[in-house]
Amino acid sequence: LNEIKNKQVTVLGLGVTGLGIVRFLLSQGLTPNVVDSRQSPPGCDWLHQHAPHLNTHFGDLATAKLDSVDMIIISPGLSLTLPAVVSALQAGVEVIGDIELFARLTDKPVVAVTGSNGKSTVVTLAYQVLKSAGYKVGLGGNIGTAALDLLNDDFDVYVLELSSFQLDTTRSLKPISATVLNVSEDHLDRYASYQAYIDSKQTIYANTALAVVNSADAATHSQVMPQLSFGIDSGDYSLMSHQGEQYFSHQSTPLLPVSSLAVVGRHNQLNALAVMALLSPFDITVEQYAQAFGEFTGLPHRCQFVAEQAGVKYFNDSKATNVGATIAAIESLADQAKQLLVIAGGDAKGADLDSLKPYLQQQVKALICFGKDAKALVALTDKGHLTDNMDQAVALAKQLATAGDIVLLAPACASIDMYNNYMQRGDHFSQCVLAEAV
Ligand code: ADP
Repeated sequence: LNEIKNKQVTVLGLGVTGLGIVRFLLSQGLTPNVVDSRQSPPGCDWLHQHAPHLNTHFGDLATAKLDSVDMIIISPGLSLTLPAVVSALQAGVEVIGDIELFARLTDKPVVAVTGSNGKSTVVTLAYQVLKSAGYKVGLGGNIGTAALDLLNDDFDVYVLELSSFQLDTTRSLKPISATVLNVSEDHLDRYASYQAYIDSKQTIYANTALAVVNSADAATHSQVMPQLSFGIDSGDYSLMSHQGEQYFSHQSTPLLPVSSLAVVGRHNQLNALAVMALLSPFDITVEQYAQAFGEFTGLPHRCQFVAEQAGVKYFNDSKATNVGATIAAIESLADQAKQLLVIAGGDAKGADLDSLKPYLQQQVKALICFGKDAKALVALTDKGHLTDNMDQAVALAKQLATAGDIVLLAPACASIDMYNNYMQRGDHFSQCVLAEAV
């Protein structure tokens, strides 16, 4: 911190993370400038009340004098390709994110997780395993608590979920273990190409003491050594048959039965294997794993059971905001259903939706869509239905489903065209399902 105490620092972007950065800097006696392109960004009331002495600029970034400061701490919501940021970079301004600042300020072990899907599940499960083994664990980053807020407590270890946007502004993080869980098309509205998105994810391995890769996904592979791999059929951590049961195993040694994991689906078994590889540097017994695996019942809005009505089960997977997540949800629920009905749609963020096609053809009885990219989704299958909104979509699903079927909300899209966030979308789905009359 001494390094930036005498510098002119601007916090750019005042969302949850931005406000976290401001709060942290204030607590350290620093007085950053605060800039946001919106006239009244969320958090500006807090700022006026608690830190009226800070210089603020809300509105056009072009006039925010970003070129003349020493350092910009940018929120992950803002792109490094914004003209005002490009110009600041060209003028020699150092641009970092909150994770970079965090990395410079801690020497405790950090377990770092990125990937297109499964990040939140993996970090939460890793957190619970470490806790059951008696560690004092700080969980945060792109989930829950902003990383800088974690520095207020004295933790033994940090488990961080990192988005590619956060990685783009991080250089100094030296994780004890790090993984790219998987890569599928996402956020192509913010990256020049799919390869650029993969490259961004790969930077998590740059300074790690242990790289953890997905054996079935080449885009997660790395030259960094030492490394461990995980996979259903192959890898250092994988599944094996033992005494007539499936086991999580390490290099052909059975560790604990897959049935000890409370959450279901292949993707969650992969997530559990990734956790075991990531936590291999720590001292954790099989019993401690079994306890945490049994207690973790999953996160809300991820393949979450909502209700059963007239023999039809309803699942909320509103967090499936890209094609890869929707495929995982279809694959994990199709087996349990007589037939599967999927509600999808929203903003596809420029992704190619074609890889959904075979799953829709083979495993889905009806695809009910609404939102910005609904038409493109409906065009993927001859079982598509176009509706105007969630109410209509759920009403139609109720009409089409018969006993034994599952209705799954797995949008393959972001929610921003119609909702504040995926949580609000998932809650609305649940309300529509639970509403008496449709
Ligand atoms: P993230 O934090 O990366 O968005 P989550 O754990 O919140 O990941 O899960 C998001 C969605 O991705 C879930 O709704 C689920 O359907 C799907 N998912 C979870 N784990 C995996 C995985 N390992 N591979 C593919 N999809 C997954």
